[in-house]
Amino acid sequence: MKLLVTGGCGFIGTNFVYHMLETYPDVEIVNLDKLTYAGNRNNIAPLESSPLGKRHSFVRADIADKDSVRAILAEHRPDAVLNFAAESHVDRSIHDPSPFIVTNVLGTQNILSASMEAGIERFVQISTDEVYGTLATDDPAFSEENPLEPNSPYSASKASADLIVRSFWKTYGYPVVITRCSNNYGPWQFPEKLIPLMIKLAEEDKPLPIYGDGMQVRDWIFVTDHCHGVDLALRKGTPGSVYNFGGNAEKANIDVVKSILSAMGKGEDLISYVKDRPGHDRRYAMDYSLAEKELGFSPKYTFERGLAETLRWYEEHKDWRNAIESGEYRSFMSDWYGER
Ligand code: NAD
Repeated sequence: MKLLVTGGCGFIGTNFVYHMLETYPDVEIVNLDKLTYAGNRNNIAPLESSPLGKRHSFVRADIADKDSVRAILAEHRPDAVLNFAAESHVDRSIHDPSPFIVTNVLGTQNILSASMEAGIERFVQISTDEVYGTLATDDPAFSEENPLEPNSPYSASKASADLIVRSFWKTYGYPVVITRCSNNYGPWQFPEKLIPLMIKLAEEDKPLPIYGDGMQVRDWIFVTDHCHGVDLALRKGTPGSVYNFGGNAEKANIDVVKSILSAMGKGEDLISYVKDRPGHDRRYAMDYSLAEKELGFSPKYTFERGLAETLRWYEEHKDWRNAIESGEYRSFMSDWYGER
């Protein structure tokens, strides 16, 4: 089976590429990535010197570029397209929504149309729990039936993409599947997201900024559990369906940060409360019973095991981190959060 994976040099895409090549000896992957600040070719460098690399090829392209996408599909003729490519950071979307609309909305429509025109038989759109909006403490977890009520420019762009993808099933009968997952963490995550950012700051004994009261609740999933879910949706998902994935690990941000500090032997005096993010969703929680029933999905990692593995990975990959924590990364972090 030949797969076109977009965004395969980002956090989840990288993990998915490794997962598929390591799990299936007959899978070939064409990895299409624009290599924005969040995409890193070093992530897939180990493949090039391994036997797995024979079944992987990389092409630098923009999902919003019609001609490039058409040419790549015509050249490689994949059996399925999995669209991970996105602008993915909520704070950046508040700072400037434009790239989010271009990539997440127009880019998704572009690669979806091109895939349908090229007769690709399966299209999987990777989406997020954030499209559902926010929950109060006692609300039941989001199911696939919840209305889409996104609150940030990021989640609004992802919800828009989901609706366009859905419409291709309803209008043209194009066999799409949408997956929506909760907050991921694990290897290869860019250090602007909560867990790797807090690990980095704690290592440097710098203040750990916590938005508002820190009581925003997220459901945390170890990234390989998410990748396994996407793999199941690709192979077994019913066309036109949406599947939620979650990690069974609802935690307040402040508790996540305290767990990191404790695992690293650092004191809680490093915690520094800062003004809350505008429009900050209070709670996300996922009901993934449909994926459990139809796909046989269940997360394997507890939060404690996943966090220990993540800390070990970041400790062992200091060179990778040093290489990306420069240039554009530094300038955005200092504009947004103040110099660190
Ligand atoms: P990421 O920001 O780490 O990676 C995104 C990748 O997409 C990068 O490699 C980047 O270079 C590439 N890209 C961006 N714009 C592109 C374009 N126009 N054309 C081609 N490539 C482009 O993101 P991530 O955390 O790995 O998220 C991957 C997907 O999963 C996204 O669609 C995101 O919405 C979704 N998702 C993420 C989470 C999470 O917790 N990180 C949870 C649920 C869903």
